[in-house]
Amino acid sequence: AKKHQRAGYTEFGQEFEQQLQRRLQVASELRHCVERNELQLYYQPQICLKDQKVIGAEALVRWIKDGKMIPPGEFISTAETSGFIVPMGYWILEEACNEQIRWHTELGLQLKVAVNVSVRQLKDPSFIGRLDDILRRTGIDAKCLELEVTESMMMENSRDLRKILQLIRQRGLSIALDDFGTGYSSLSHLQELPINLLKIDRSFISKVTKSEEDRAITSLMIKTGELLKLRVIAEGIEEAYQHEELIKLGCHEAQGYHYSRPLSKADFMALLQEYPEL
Ligand code: C2E
Ligand code: CA
Ligand code: CA
Ligand code: CA
Repeated sequence: AKKHQRAGYTEFGQEFEQQLQRRLQVASELRHCVERNELQLYYQPQICLKDQKVIGAEALVRWIKDGKMIPPGEFISTAETSGFIVPMGYWILEEACNEQIRWHTELGLQLKVAVNVSVRQLKDPSFIGRLDDILRRTGIDAKCLELEVTESMMMENSRDLRKILQLIRQRGLSIALDDFGTGYSSLSHLQELPINLLKIDRSFISKVTKSEEDRAITSLMIKTGELLKLRVIAEGIEEAYQHEELIKLGCHEAQGYHYSRPLSKADFMALLQEYPEL
């Protein structure tokens, strides 16, 4: 048994070392991804549940390294701990705004673009200044730009963070509370946050018609939004029955594979031209 344990430990140790090696490698290669033009944004449509019209898109970053597409799950956390998320985040923000302008000038559509930001980015002392630069340079209408911040990030509830969110709101942007339901926000905490919409986490949507109880939780989240006068969007809709159920529960907006996967910018443009309603 002892031998077995030792073998297990070594295996674990090796795995740990490999993981560490991989993270270090990712961190050093990540540093050059912007200047080497290795980043791309994909866009996943967000639809209005009333009429199924595309009202905007969430920008999701992809890293194309040696022709292979690396999902954000494999590098965002490394980018956050190394601090590289800050310059990378400015590139993402500007790219998303430029693309929103293209939808407007080339297709005449006034859509919103939602961009994920991590707390590390918001805490960069030059965030507001850089945001103003990007708004000015791209000419995007601030009300078409939405920032998604996760509920867990907001649990920190610091005055500094709230202040930054207020400055963002003052500029006319909207703020979505991402992964809503996975943290432990109280109603009073939610009420204090300068947010515009709640984005119900996929984990709730995936269970939505399995049991009465799960439906009740989702329903409660939608009612919480109504109570606080916030818009509510659901993410991760994969099946038609989830779509139907969310309409019944009074959810306003939705996003998920049921409507479309995240698309390259060319594919998203083509979708807008062919199917402005999904
Ligand atoms: P998130 O913000 O919760 O984004 C939603 C994720 O769910 C995306 O994964 C999306 O492709 C995936 N998804 C969308 N619809 C469905 C569905 O119907 N079913 C399932 N199973 N999945 C669905 P992705 O693109 O791999 O992004 C993962 C996470 O990486 C994001 O989670 C976000 O936290 C982070 N991320 C992505 N892009 C950025 C970025 O530009 N900046 C920052 N800071 N984080 C980003
Ligand atoms: Ca998001
Ligand atoms: Ca989310
Ligand atoms: Ca999520």
